[in-house]
Amino acid sequence: MTEFSDERRGLILINTGAGKGKTTAALGTALRAIGNGMRVLILQFLKGSWHYGELDSIAALAASPEFKGNCAIRQLGRGFVKVGGAETDPEDQRMVDDAWAEASAAILSGEWDLIVLDEILYTIGYGMLSAELVADTLRRKPELLHVILTGRNAHPLLVELADTVTEMREIRHAYTRGILAQRGIEY
Ligand code: ATP
Ligand code: MG
Repeated sequence: MTEFSDERRGLILINTGAGKGKTTAALGTALRAIGNGMRVLILQFLKGSWHYGELDSIAALAASPEFKGNCAIRQLGRGFVKVGGAETDPEDQRMVDDAWAEASAAILSGEWDLIVLDEILYTIGYGMLSAELVADTLRRKPELLHVILTGRNAHPLLVELADTVTEMREIRHAYTRGILAQRGIEY
């Protein structure tokens, strides 16, 4: 059972695992925080080629008189691509470097109450971003800032650092029945 606390704390949360729901759970939390008047930034590593519905819903919230400027979402990649080790495309590496520069600056800026680093755990797993570097920045984050990291295969160092870690476990995914990505569910 949930006990409510008056004491405010900034949490580090991880949504990982092979099952569906890592990004969408982070977006659900973002929606909850925005409704509480919190300033929410969503940065999506690797993504870029698909137009996801959340880009428009967050933009509409950001343009509304009630939540104006309190939320933003940005894609910082060019879509899921073949990466890893010697096969990493220098252009993808450059985009991850730029994405991390933007993410770390946002974390330390004090301008946000919640920051979602969507798919960042993939970039660490692919060897494109250092887990130590991310952990070091998270240790220096403003005390009340919440940060959510998503992606499969969360690095042990970050799992250790996080307050709440959830593993999505696949029982079944429609994909295994040959059903391709559906509008509103997958994008
Ligand atoms: P979502 O964005 O739907 O919450 P996710 O963040 O958990 O999914 P990712 O690893 O980021 O999953 O992959 C994104 C895409 O891959 C989504 O379209 C999602 O439906 C799909 N996907 C996630 N898990 C699986 C799976 N176990 N099998 C097949 N496709 C999957
Ligand atoms: Mg995802």
